[in-house]
Amino acid sequence: MTSEKILRLLQELIQIPSVNPGLCPQEGYNEEKIAIYIVDWLTANDIKARLEYIEGSRPNVVAEVGEDDGPTLCLCAHLDTVSAMGMEIDPFDPRLEAGRVYGRGSCDMKAGIAAIMGAAVDIAEEGNINGKLIVALVCDEEYKSIGAEHFVSKYNADACIITEPTDMKLVAAHKGFLWGKVTTHGKSAHGSRWDLGQSAITKMGPIITALDQFDKSILRNKTHDLLGPASMHVSLIDGGTEISTYAATSEMHFERRTLPSEEYQHTTNEIESVIKDVEEWAHINWVFERKPSVCSLDDFIVQTASSSFQELIGEKPEVVGWDFWTDAAVFQQRDIPSINLGPIGYGLHEPVEWVEFDSMLQIQRVLVDTAKRFLK
Ligand SMILES: [Zn+2]
Repeated sequence: MTSEKILRLLQELIQIPSVNPGLCPQEGYNEEKIAIYIVDWLTANDIKARLEYIEGSRPNVVAEVGEDDGPTLCLCAHLDTVSAMGMEIDPFDPRLEAGRVYGRGSCDMKAGIAAIMGAAVDIAEEGNINGKLIVALVCDEEYKSIGAEHFVSKYNADACIITEPTDMKLVAAHKGFLWGKVTTHGKSAHGSRWDLGQSAITKMGPIITALDQFDKSILRNKTHDLLGPASMHVSLIDGGTEISTYAATSEMHFERRTLPSEEYQHTTNEIESVIKDVEEWAHINWVFERKPSVCSLDDFIVQTASSSFQELIGEKPEVVGWDFWTDAAVFQQRDIPSINLGPIGYGLHEPVEWVEFDSMLQIQRVLVDTAKRFLK
């Protein structure tokens, strides 16, 4: 596959908005148009590809190369992007300048999609694999990951490479997160009635201070080799109804970033006891959880991808952990060893976003070589 053809592919992918409707319904996009474009492109390049609808008009693209007679390697990228609002560049005009391709989703992660599509065509053309390459281009990673969840419920694989923009580093682990909500109750009264009123907001004060202390003293000491320390922060707060009434209720949301070694039950118990120690009537709800992800450095996919990388780029990739969450955790939870390895880029979720085109081509070559070594 020529680099001109891959550049055109990347630019056409950026031109089709695929903003996640769960994050930004007002923008009126979803993943369907880009998914249809991808199936047409792969089919025109002799790859078996199909849409798999998950809910409403939100599909994954699944494509396969090879047969069920050996190991299976999955290559995965997400179709959706974050909002294009507030961007300082035209989000859907993918200009190429000084080796960079600009646009919303250029690095997160349409370059990753293009690298996988190009690699699939190259692998099919060379045709000497034993086993199967399965391509999972999934919807909704930026919100609830319904695409990746649906994919792993239907398909298995011996390993997975996700091409998030890792700046050519091999990401073997990332943190998870846990969202919680605390509610305190006071006693509503006219603002002059100090003898009757109790402020729910005031009761939140010691809780916030205790959680901050807990973050700085206890969580900083829980660390992981690749990921550094665990952490938490208070992110949203609300309470009261008007300025001259004692606040009857207050609600506060917090987020805890978790390490692979941490168990859900222990993590939640720990926070609950910090809160109950200062305000025993506070009510705690656990709202949402995303597991952390970790792939053993001895795993075959880490070794294989590192060898391919070294052969093509001239040195081993730097192996790192990431603070933020990716679909790797969804695969890893199904015991599919998963890593992230992707191009150099800038501006994930920011007003200017670009990807370095040459690094995308390098990733494509590493994917082809890794697949040939893995599917032997
Ligand atoms: Zn991403």
